[in-house]
Amino acid sequence: MAKTFEGSFTQQEPLSQSAVDAAIAVLQSGRLHRYNLAPGEVGEVAQLEAEFRDWQGCGYCLAVTSGGQAMQIALRACGVTPGDAVLTNAFTLAPVPGAIGAVGARPVLVETDQNLRLDLDDLERKIRASDARVLLVSHMRGHLCDMERLMAICDAAGVAVVEDCAHTMGARWNGTRSGNFGKVACFSTQTYKHMNSGEGGFLTTDDADIAARATILSGSYMLYDRHGAGPPADAFAEARLEMPNCSARMDALRAAILRPQLATLDENVARWNARYRVLERGLAAQNILSVIERPGEESPVGSSIQFRLTEFTKAQCQALLAATAARGVELKWFGSVEPTGFTSSHHSWRYVNAQTLPETDRILATLFDMRVPLTFSEADCQQIAEIIREAVAEVAASPDTIPAPEAEQAVACE
Ligand SMILES: *Cc1c(COP(=O)(O)O)cnc(C)c1O
Repeated sequence: MAKTFEGSFTQQEPLSQSAVDAAIAVLQSGRLHRYNLAPGEVGEVAQLEAEFRDWQGCGYCLAVTSGGQAMQIALRACGVTPGDAVLTNAFTLAPVPGAIGAVGARPVLVETDQNLRLDLDDLERKIRASDARVLLVSHMRGHLCDMERLMAICDAAGVAVVEDCAHTMGARWNGTRSGNFGKVACFSTQTYKHMNSGEGGFLTTDDADIAARATILSGSYMLYDRHGAGPPADAFAEARLEMPNCSARMDALRAAILRPQLATLDENVARWNARYRVLERGLAAQNILSVIERPGEESPVGSSIQFRLTEFTKAQCQALLAATAARGVELKWFGSVEPTGFTSSHHSWRYVNAQTLPETDRILATLFDMRVPLTFSEADCQQIAEIIREAVAEVAASPDTIPAPEAEQAVACE
């Protein structure tokens, strides 16, 4: 009798007692707004900003309400105005083209390669063919492209790089933290990312002018001296009067529950990677299936895993989703015509000018994805890999599979 996996793919770990205690202290104080401080008080948000800056090893850090807001603010702070072209990945999550759309700019989509990284040859072509001055590169599903080559291409062309690090908080390329390559980096602390405050995000940069503009954009009024990791007051001379207030401040409650999580983030990165290695090894034993290559320069955070079934038809892909779901394993498949729960297909972003991306379409057609919550043990991961291997073998043995209705999935917005 085939075994079924009983765990939940959307269940995160509970917050620690120290996070709960910090939250209660904020609630009891009644001072939830970041600028509502008692005399001499630094505040949870400012402390979090300083701690994240030190952990990330960057010049400045601004805490905001979401990763999506961090990206919108980053684009504006880099001078993007309505009508401008902004380069980005064709394969990413909806908030990325959404941030470009929200500032009135036009996404120019760049192809994805078979290892799910930005196709740097296509990037060069699209830089030449457009007048884009900014690239919003999304390290989608934690896969970092050759960051030295990416920066060399963009620096030579005068293209500013904004990094979307929603899936790479804690990852490194050649020893440098993801987020420390481009002009600005954006992080998310939404529930399904590497720290969990429900909603939330960070913007980091080494550029004092960008940090000042971003701070005013986030809704600091003239209270920017109450920040924990902002630039000196003179950096605000122009920004303070020129930047619109977008009201995207982080509040004290979320900051209070994030600070203890930051303290254990490195530990959690190691826990994710241990689970990833079990899954990767288990999946690689099924030779019909291609796992995604991880270059030696990359130190990733294995909070999700992807694989491709290049020989599978659409019907077989659907059959695999159904077969694994029947045994308790929730996979995402990026080849579906109708967006289900998450939207990572450029075809479902109708506010973006339709663009032809044959490589990305070809890769997404047989691409599968699975999130790896820390509530799974390594033994769970072993069982999951076994279920996937068996389901793949079963489906591969029936090439005439009839398309099944798509299985209902628990939704994780990442
Ligand atoms: C989740 C996510 C974001 C933005 O996160 P929010 O905090 O939910 O706005 C950005 N990029 C990617 C790739 C994501 O998965």
